[in-house]
Amino acid sequence: MKAYPIARPYLTAEDKAGVISVLDTHQLSLGPKYREFEKLFAKKMGVKYACSVSSGTAGLHLAMLACGICVGDEVITSPFSFVSSANAILYVGAKPVFVDVDPMTYNMDPAKIEEKINEKTKAILVVHIFGQPCDMAPISRLAKKYKLLIIEDACESIAATYRGRPTGTFGKAGVFAFYPNKQMTTGEGGMLITNNRKVYEICDSLKNQGRAKNDQWLDHRDLGYNYRLDELSAALGITQLKKIGFMIDQRRKIAGWYKEILESHNDMFQAPNTAVGNTHTWFVFVVLIKDKKIGRNLLIENLKKTGIATKPYLPSIHLFDFYRRRFGYKKGDFPISERISDRSLALPMYIGLTYDDCKYIVGKLIIEVNKLSKRNK
Ligand SMILES: *Cc1c(COP(=O)(O)O)cnc(C)c1O
Repeated sequence: MKAYPIARPYLTAEDKAGVISVLDTHQLSLGPKYREFEKLFAKKMGVKYACSVSSGTAGLHLAMLACGICVGDEVITSPFSFVSSANAILYVGAKPVFVDVDPMTYNMDPAKIEEKINEKTKAILVVHIFGQPCDMAPISRLAKKYKLLIIEDACESIAATYRGRPTGTFGKAGVFAFYPNKQMTTGEGGMLITNNRKVYEICDSLKNQGRAKNDQWLDHRDLGYNYRLDELSAALGITQLKKIGFMIDQRRKIAGWYKEILESHNDMFQAPNTAVGNTHTWFVFVVLIKDKKIGRNLLIENLKKTGIATKPYLPSIHLFDFYRRRFGYKKGDFPISERISDRSLALPMYIGLTYDDCKYIVGKLIIEVNKLSKRNK
């Protein structure tokens, strides 16, 4: 039986050599590599500053701090995201205010933002979900009208563009993540980008225990954190970033195959859409199971037995226990997000999958869906 994981990092001899070369220097943290990675990343994104961090979540936390979000503030964001985008708002004592999503892109629906803005609203934290950019034109207009900051969770959308401009460059700060299932990896790791020198300097200090630029090692000007990216991870980031174009092309090819194969089964599945003006970089490939009577979680179990790993990407954040307890959210509060959460299935997506693999995976998927729908009749 062939086994298909849901994700797998693409690691080459060049990646290995880069990491080993750091081991040989014996300088495993705060060496030259993280600065080199930051410079290369900023250049690639066309921004002035990049600040490497130990995870995407750490980057989002620093973005909130550097943008001055604090207790009593409200930040508008998406319920259809990985939990850390909303959590980062809570870390600084502010309140995440959710806006339901667009049924085609699964991104925050700009038409539903304005009604959530009040005098406490400080920022909009957009999440470019699955590698597809949010509709930034109306969001930017609203931000301007109400003097709100835009912060971008671009953790799933590296190299994606909206009207030709890369995600992560629209707001005061943009954050990327390099966990091993992302389009590029450093093991754990992340990067915050900005054109604002102050934001950069705050993040660069806070990630390093609040040390200011010319401080002695044991001086700590501010309440900081250890959110540093180590040298081994940075070295991996450098070689991964070098081939990001190739890696995204490969993901696009695989997504194209899936879409082509799924086209004749659009009675069963809603394949992902790419909005006009967007380029998509396919963090995951998610289909929605149309037949509401089919238990999606049972489907996942059954596919697992055939060797195919799939995942329910993503649960809606407001329905997590913690959010229900704290804010009293309930089912039905954000119906579009919930419907996507209930019906979504991420298929294996990693470099190395062939057209035949995609065909095999979709074939098995159809068999298992048919089995479940027969059982319901
Ligand atoms: C991966 C991810 C993050 C950050 O993840 P880390 O595991 O902390 O690197 C944040 N937001 C979204 C939407 C993500 O997918």
